Amino acid sequence: MQRSKSNSLHNEALEHLVGGVNSPVRAFKSVHGNPIYFDKASGATVTDVDGNELVDFVQSWGPLVHGHSHPQILDAVYKKMQNGTSFGAPHTGEIELAKRVKKRFSHMDKVRFVSSGTEAVMSAVRLARGYTGRDLLVKFEGCYHGHVDSLMVSSGSGLATFGIASSPGIPKDTVATTLIAPLDDDEAVDYLFKEHGHEIAAVIIEPLPANNGLLVQRHEYLANLRTLCHEHGALLIFDEVISGFRFKDGSYGDISGVTPDITALGKIIGGGLPVGAYGARSEIMEKLSPLGPVYQAGTLSGNPLAMAAGIATLDLLDDSAYDHLESLGKILEQCVEPVLEKHGYPMRLMRRGSLFWFSPSAAQPPSRADLIPSDAGTLYSDVHKGLLEKGYMLAPSAYEIGFIATVHQEHHLLGMAKALDEVLQELEW
Ligand SMILES: *Cc1c(COP(=O)(O)O)cnc(C)c1O
Repeated sequence: MQRSKSNSLHNEALEHLVGGVNSPVRAFKSVHGNPIYFDKASGATVTDVDGNELVDFVQSWGPLVHGHSHPQILDAVYKKMQNGTSFGAPHTGEIELAKRVKKRFSHMDKVRFVSSGTEAVMSAVRLARGYTGRDLLVKFEGCYHGHVDSLMVSSGSGLATFGIASSPGIPKDTVATTLIAPLDDDEAVDYLFKEHGHEIAAVIIEPLPANNGLLVQRHEYLANLRTLCHEHGALLIFDEVISGFRFKDGSYGDISGVTPDITALGKIIGGGLPVGAYGARSEIMEKLSPLGPVYQAGTLSGNPLAMAAGIATLDLLDDSAYDHLESLGKILEQCVEPVLEKHGYPMRLMRRGSLFWFSPSAAQPPSRADLIPSDAGTLYSDVHKGLLEKGYMLAPSAYEIGFIATVHQEHHLLGMAKALDEVLQELEW
């Protein structure tokens, strides 16, 4: 595939934007390539500035569960736009989207809209601290919660410890309030609660960790977190920014039978426009300003265009849409797994609903970040590059997952499997 226009735009962008991008993983660094400049996108495909058409399994990193430029979503936004782009005042769209969110997340009495997943998580954490009057957080290695200072933490030495900042620019004192534990390890969290239980404001987890591979957790593990929080007066925060609205049977909390105190949302809830949200029972939410003392605000929060896109997206997500996503997921498994096996390539397809991940090992997919093999990047980048050349776009990182949208068709999935077969053949694996 010819990419001369993309490459020259990237060179131009390098003079004006840091690394040519506005979010680091877009830079293709971990797959040793250049970013591709998109021109337009429709349904399951995107067209780049050089005129190449690609089948898209990134789907804007999750929000586009109905694919690109869905006519009903575009129409809803376009109609709203005729009446103004931002009011800075209440409007019916906020009520309508809140009702739809509450239908899915039954533990929420009240919802607050913000403009990104990061903002939702940051605000949920502040609310939990304000509500409990405590400072400490527990987070897990291998979970991503946006670029929130107190959650940009790597594990220090030892099994369950205070973390160290994973980026310069974050004060030591900020991460000193974050305890970090490995996923899927009951003893580690038991220990943290034994040592610090009375100081812990909240435990925050992606109940379906999907930002560092797809690290599915045991039900009992999530249930233990619920019990520990309950016993020690801490709040349980589920970060469902990526898993929220993905499953027919409700929230991932519902599916795992564990009810959190606060849930943070993003991605699908905005249908491709910037929306985040968090919600909880009234007693917690009423600590928020204007009813309570915990401050949180936003110039563009509840933006009418973004609410309209969210409402249209959720209205399209009926039972049959979820069934369709599940059947596409099954087809993907059935066509991709045999190809990996045939070539003996050390990868497996891990899937939950419309989320999938090429797990970089022939063994059982891992449940913890430290169990992901260290050669994951190399194994993946060959596959990524090969598939891209054949017109299939996966996320440019071994640790990012893929997304199936309701507009994908069987031939897109079979086509990807066939391309993968050719790629592995060419690699002479
Ligand atoms: C994407 C994501 C975030 C951050 O959301 P942004 O909209 O990128 O700020 C937070 N948590 C999880 C689980 C995510 O997947």
